[in-house]
Amino acid sequence: MSEAPETSQELSEVLEDLRRHLLWQEEDGGRFLQVDARLAAELRGAGLARLRAQTAKPAPSVAAQPAPAAQPPPAERPMPPRAPPPEPERPLAARAPEPPPARREAPAPRLIEAPAQVVRSAAGPLPGVVEGERPTLDEIRRELGDCRRCKLCDGRKNIVFGSGNPRAELVFVGEGPGADEDVQGVPFVGAAGQLLTKMIEAMGYRRDDVYICNVVKCRPPNNRNPEPDEVTACEPFLRAQLQAVRPKAIVALGKFAAQTLLRDTTPITKMRGTWREYEGIKLMPTFHPAYLLRQPAEKKKAWEDLQQVMKFFGKQPGQRG
Ligand code: SF4
Repeated sequence: MSEAPETSQELSEVLEDLRRHLLWQEEDGGRFLQVDARLAAELRGAGLARLRAQTAKPAPSVAAQPAPAAQPPPAERPMPPRAPPPEPERPLAARAPEPPPARREAPAPRLIEAPAQVVRSAAGPLPGVVEGERPTLDEIRRELGDCRRCKLCDGRKNIVFGSGNPRAELVFVGEGPGADEDVQGVPFVGAAGQLLTKMIEAMGYRRDDVYICNVVKCRPPNNRNPEPDEVTACEPFLRAQLQAVRPKAIVALGKFAAQTLLRDTTPITKMRGTWREYEGIKLMPTFHPAYLLRQPAEKKKAWEDLQQVMKFFGKQPGQRG
């Protein structure tokens, strides 16, 4: 059959992916457990170059303070030189030592070769990142660095980047960190976060199944609303996060998330409950959990909104998986 060479070639690809994936997990203590090599290659690049252009405002601290996680993931170590694709009729065992086919050479080796420059370069395209390719969440976080792109940096204790499954099918986007989040550096861990966790679990997910982030990554003083210049400075990182996770649906929690992502000033009371679209991704605007704590009578509407999301994913209340 003429399909044999393709099958063997695909098997070689799978073996190579598996080898790199295992190395990655082994050397990073499981930190990248949920990101396999194939996905890493897929995600790498596209938004990062664009993100750098969007956040081109000089950020000396990024250059001065490279990311704490200086060790590149093992999957990003240089690969050996690659040979041409295998002979079609050679037996599988004879081809086992050969490197992967040339068509898989895309961005990984280039990124792998220069992770340090990726972090330190403060202007222009990232070394080793091809224009139009996708970044990973780790790359975006490194790019954010010890961010001082807006005045919210002055009062923060921690940058609250985001948490959860980097391959989540569902992402929740809130407004900004509160006091508890600022202290812990994790989104939605205070009272509103506990309500959000209950909402997520009621939908049939565990919190770790989804990805959670905010429009702004630093706490506004006294929990005031983020100001337009702060949203403008920070939102490219949110957009890059969504590009990296590439979920099937987004729940925008409250007016700041919905209005920022949709570029729509319609009040959340009118926007909620109706599917919208963000960059080809379904987006459901609903109330922010903090608002629901103040107005518990509105929980019913929020639950109706979330039920539409569950219907989209074919989930029943409390059904896991
Ligand atoms: S809110 Fe965003 S843009 Fe402003 S300092 Fe924090 S991370 Fe940087």
